[in-house]
Amino acid sequence: MKNIEKYLSLLGETVDGLLLTSRYSRFYGSECDIAEGVAIVTKKGCRYFTDSRYIEAAQKGIVGFEVLETNRCNPYNKLINDAIAQFGVERLGYEEGYLTVGEFNSFADELKAELIPLGGKINSFRAVKECWELERMRKAQEITDKAFSEIITRLKAGMTEKQLQVELIYCLYKNGGEGLSFDPIVVSGPNTSLPHGVATDRVIQEGDFVTMDFGVLLGGYCSDMTRTVAVGYATEEMKQVYETVLTAQQAGIAATKAGVTGQQIDAVARRVIADAGYGDYFGHGYGHSLGMEVHEPPNCNPNGVTVMTAGMVTSAEPGIYLPGKFGVRIEDVVIFTEDGCEDITHSPKNLIII
Ligand code: ZN
Ligand code: ZN
Repeated sequence: MKNIEKYLSLLGETVDGLLLTSRYSRFYGSECDIAEGVAIVTKKGCRYFTDSRYIEAAQKGIVGFEVLETNRCNPYNKLINDAIAQFGVERLGYEEGYLTVGEFNSFADELKAELIPLGGKINSFRAVKECWELERMRKAQEITDKAFSEIITRLKAGMTEKQLQVELIYCLYKNGGEGLSFDPIVVSGPNTSLPHGVATDRVIQEGDFVTMDFGVLLGGYCSDMTRTVAVGYATEEMKQVYETVLTAQQAGIAATKAGVTGQQIDAVARRVIADAGYGDYFGHGYGHSLGMEVHEPPNCNPNGVTVMTAGMVTSAEPGIYLPGKFGVRIEDVVIFTEDGCEDITHSPKNLIII
C-alpha cells in the first residue's frame, strides 16, 4: 500500500482531513523530505504548502500532493483554510506531539475546522517499515559499521573524548553518512557509567573502557549502534561485565520475533543481567524502535505491551553501569521477521582491546 493510502484510510467518521505538520509525516506521505512545510490530506484532494526556499525541490520530489507556495500574501493558515473550504473539511486530525503550543493556538484561532488530536494514529504507520525503508536503514547501518572499523584504528590512549568524538564524526561522514542521527556519545573510563554522557576533555588512558554510541542519516533514515572497547588491558571485572552485557544482548536478540511483546524481549535480557548480580545497574530499557527518528515507538522496555510484527525494528542495547567505576553497553539494530529477526549491525562484538 502506498503511504498516502494509509493516511487516507484514517478518513471517515472521526475526521475528514489530516493536517500533517511534522517533517516525518510529510516525508512519509509525500515520499519527499522537505525541512519545512504543512500538508493537508483529504479524500477530495491533497495539498502541500512550503516556502520559496523549498518550493522547487518540493515541486520536483513530492508525489500525490498539489504543491503550493506560501508567502507573505498567502500565509499557511490562509492556504489551509482555502483547502478546508474547497474540500469541505469539517474535522481535521492533527499531530499533537509535533506542534508547539503557539502553533496549535494559531491553528485553533484561525482554521475553520474542528481540530481533533490524531497524532498517535497518523504516526503509527511508521512502526512497520516498507521494504524501501528497510533498505535505507540497512545502508545507514552499514555506514555506521564502516565508521566503527575505522575509528578503532584511530583510537589511542592520550586522545581526549572530544578529540575521539570529532574523529568519529569525520568517519561517519567520510563513509557516506548524510547527517548524524544524533550527537555521538563518546565516554571513557569512569564516564562510561553515564549511559548518555557527553564527551569531555578527559584523556583516554590504558585500562579504560571507551563507549561510543553513534549513527547516521541516509535518505532520511537513521542508524544507531554502540560498542564498548577497552584500551590497553581489561580487568577481570571489566571482562565479566562485558560478557554479561553481551550474553544479555544475544539472549534478547534470540527472543526477538513477530508475535512477542517488547516487554517479553526486555525481560529475557534483563533476567541475564539480574542473574549475574547486576540487576540494579541496568536502568534503561532494552531497546527502542527507530526509522526517520532515532527514537520511535514501540519500545522494548518493561512497559512495552505492543505485540511486534514483521517489518518492525528495534535496537538491542542492554547495558550495565557501575557508578564511579565503568559501564558497558552494546547496541545493534534488528528487524523483526516472522520467525526471528535480521541483525543489520555487523560490527564485531567480542571484547576488543586496543
Ligand atoms: Zn545508540
Ligand atoms: Zn539506541
